[in-house]
Amino acid sequence: MAGELILIVEDDSRSAKLAREILEIYGYRTVEARTVEAALTLAFEEHPDLVLMDIQLPDGDGVDVLRRLRLNKVLAAIPVIAVTAFAMREDEQRLRDSGFDGYVSKPVSVKTLAGEVQRQLAARSSPPGGEQ
Ligand code: MN
Repeated sequence: MAGELILIVEDDSRSAKLAREILEIYGYRTVEARTVEAALTLAFEEHPDLVLMDIQLPDGDGVDVLRRLRLNKVLAAIPVIAVTAFAMREDEQRLRDSGFDGYVSKPVSVKTLAGEVQRQLAARSSPPGGEQ
């Protein structure tokens, strides 16, 4: 199902534009934030269905945004995908240990980004075992 709202947290305007264009091709709606503060404000206001999270932001770290979301009852279950230029294996493991639902390395490809977004949204809407 398309039309879900994706929050793109990314301080690099070219990377943000690329993510936006890919997601719009697949029919998703997007909102964008360039800072930790803007990301949290938009998340609380818009309740996005999924968050794409850059790690290095001008006023902090994407991991901190993730932790703040997880502490909020309403926002805790939103899938959050880390999008980062750290392409090394140990960085991926560090981010997974931080509690991100998924991981995509930059530069993103259309297939990889769209595939991961679709996978995370599908996992969210049909929890294993049909639990609530
Ligand atoms: Mn960045």
